[in-house]
Amino acid sequence: MIRRRRGGPGDVATRLARAEELTVADGVAAGPLALVAAVLRHHERRAGNDLIRSEATLLGAAVEANRAGARFPLLDLDAAAGPVMAELDVAVGSLLALGSTVPEALAGAGRDVVTWSGPDRRELIEAWLDDPSLVEPRLAFWTRVAATPLLERAVTGLRVPTGEEWHGGACPLCGGQAQVSVIAEESGEFLGGSPRSLVCGRCSAWWPFPRAVCAVCGEEDPRNLGSYFADDSRWVRIDACQTCHGYVKTFDLREPGGLAVVPLVDDVATLMLDIWAGEQGLARPVPSFAGV
Ligand SMILES: [Zn+2]
Ligand SMILES: [Zn+2]
Repeated sequence: MIRRRRGGPGDVATRLARAEELTVADGVAAGPLALVAAVLRHHERRAGNDLIRSEATLLGAAVEANRAGARFPLLDLDAAAGPVMAELDVAVGSLLALGSTVPEALAGAGRDVVTWSGPDRRELIEAWLDDPSLVEPRLAFWTRVAATPLLERAVTGLRVPTGEEWHGGACPLCGGQAQVSVIAEESGEFLGGSPRSLVCGRCSAWWPFPRAVCAVCGEEDPRNLGSYFADDSRWVRIDACQTCHGYVKTFDLREPGGLAVVPLVDDVATLMLDIWAGEQGLARPVPSFAGV
C-alpha cells in the first residue's frame, strides 16, 4: 500500500520546509508561521537527543501488549509526565532566545511556568496529557512544545491501528485530539478509494476515520453535517456539525493545490477559515497551533 502521509511521525523536515515556504507566501499571516517554524526547529534538535530517544523507548515499551489487549492509547502516558517536566525548561529557553518570534503574551506565560514547583508542573502536564482542552491555551502551547518531540519519537515507526481496530476521534497512539482531517488518495490497493484520516496534534500520527461522521461528537446523520469552502480553494474546507457546533478543518489532497499541503502546517496558514467558523458560532476542539 502506498500512502503519502506528508509531515507524519518522524517527518519534521517536511513540516519545517512547508512552514518556511509559507512564511514568505502571499496572503498568509507570516507571524504565526514563523512561530511554527521556530517550534519545528526546536523539535528537530530535540528529536535527535539521546535522552529523548531512551525515554521514548520507555513510553513505547507496552505498545504490543496494549495492542493485543485492545487498550488505547497504545503509549504509556504515565511515563511521559516526568520527561516532559524537564523538557519544559528546554522548550521555553530555546524559543525565548529567539526574541520577538514569540508573541509577548505567550513569552510571559513561558517565563512564568518555568518558575513553577515540581508538583504544579506535574499537575499541568498530567492534565494536558489527559485532555488539553482543560488547560489554559498559553500553558497548553508550552506543554505541547515540550511534549511533542518525545511523543512523536515514541510513535515513529509504529503501525497505526486499522479502522476495525480503532474508530475513535482521539489518537489511538498517544490519546491526543484530532488537529485536522485529511482526504487522500490511496493507491496500490484494490478499490482503495480515498479514505479520510484524522491527524494528531501532538504525535502527528494519521489514523483512519469515516468520511461522514462528526470527528468531535460522532454524529452520523448527514442532515446535521455540512461542509463549507471557498470556491477558489477547494483543497481546504470546514466540516461542521449542527449537533455539537464543533468543526474540524479538512484538507482534500486530491483537489488542485492539495498536493503541496502539509496538514499540520497548512492548518496555521488557513487561520481565516477558523475566523469565519468562529463567526458562525462553531468551535474546534483543539485550537490551531499558532492561533493561541
Ligand atoms: Zn497522537
Ligand atoms: Zn458533532
